[in-house]
Amino acid sequence: TTEKSLRNEDNGIHVLFFDQNMAMQISREDKIKKELVQISDGIRSERLYMQYQPILNLNQGKICGFEALARLTSDHFGRVPPNEFIPIAEKNKLIVQLGDVIIIKALQFLQKLQQKGYNQVSVSINISAVQLLRSDFSSNLIDQIKRWQINPAQVGLELTESIFASNYDEINRIIRYLRALGIKIAIDDFGTGYSSLAREREIYANYLKIDKHFIDKLLEAKTEATITSDIISMGHKLGHCVIAEGVEYETQLSYLRENGCDLVQGYLISKPLDDDQAIEHLIHDNPSSNG
Ligand code: C2E
Ligand code: MG
Ligand code: MG
Repeated sequence: TTEKSLRNEDNGIHVLFFDQNMAMQISREDKIKKELVQISDGIRSERLYMQYQPILNLNQGKICGFEALARLTSDHFGRVPPNEFIPIAEKNKLIVQLGDVIIIKALQFLQKLQQKGYNQVSVSINISAVQLLRSDFSSNLIDQIKRWQINPAQVGLELTESIFASNYDEINRIIRYLRALGIKIAIDDFGTGYSSLAREREIYANYLKIDKHFIDKLLEAKTEATITSDIISMGHKLGHCVIAEGVEYETQLSYLRENGCDLVQGYLISKPLDDDQAIEHLIHDNPSSNG
């Protein structure tokens, strides 16, 4: 059995749990952590790999980029979703090393795109707060961009809205620096974080990615009651390009089109794809390779 001690914030009482589920959960987490340690030490690092999900530009009617999404095939549990292993990596500071691996893989993919003649297509990489706040984050990223001979304008970084809740000034300073180099910044999961409108105005991002929650709402009967269109116009007023994520149905797509959303991403366009599949998808979408 596992013993877990929780402190009740209000009265300082310690509560002890003895719970089989919790024990299983901890051993699962522990096993995943051990595998992540191995991977970051370079042991069978192929267990961590990337997939790329196409992003469609609605005005141009073509794929303008991809989001890089990390995948883990665990020895013990098979495929483990990033919503599970990324937080484990963050908790154990493993995300810094694994994040570097992820960045390199994404830049290698970008180099392949460039070699095929796609000089306008971007790849955006999800970055955790722990990574971004390291003093050497920017210089490492720039070194890697040079190493793989990438045009910084094709590199995007996705930061979840919630990371602006703390370290707001520091993060905005880093963003300004990266943007001055041409790197694009997206605020991810918009609408689920804690940033106030007043602050939102000052976040120096290129893109605002509306969280899937607001896209799901478009399937409800009273579409006109949703605030999704308000989020799109607010994003535009604040000078951001607006992306909808998790688009699965035609009805959602037509709403987004009618309400001026700029870019869409979701299973309706394509699921996340392996390197080669992603390039094939791009060639099929835009064979002239001037995209
Ligand atoms: P996210 O950055 O918001 O990524 C979008 C998620 O929505 C992805 O889940 C994607 O596969 C999923 N998705 C896209 N279209 C659809 C759709 O039409 N329907 C549904 N149901 N889902 C859709 P995924 O790959 O499981 O990633 C989950 C989260 O894990 C990501 O959310 C991101 O926060 C995090 N993550 C993934 N890769 C990385 C990474 O390399 N680094 C970091 N720090 N976080 C990552
Ligand atoms: Mg993202
Ligand atoms: Mg998101």
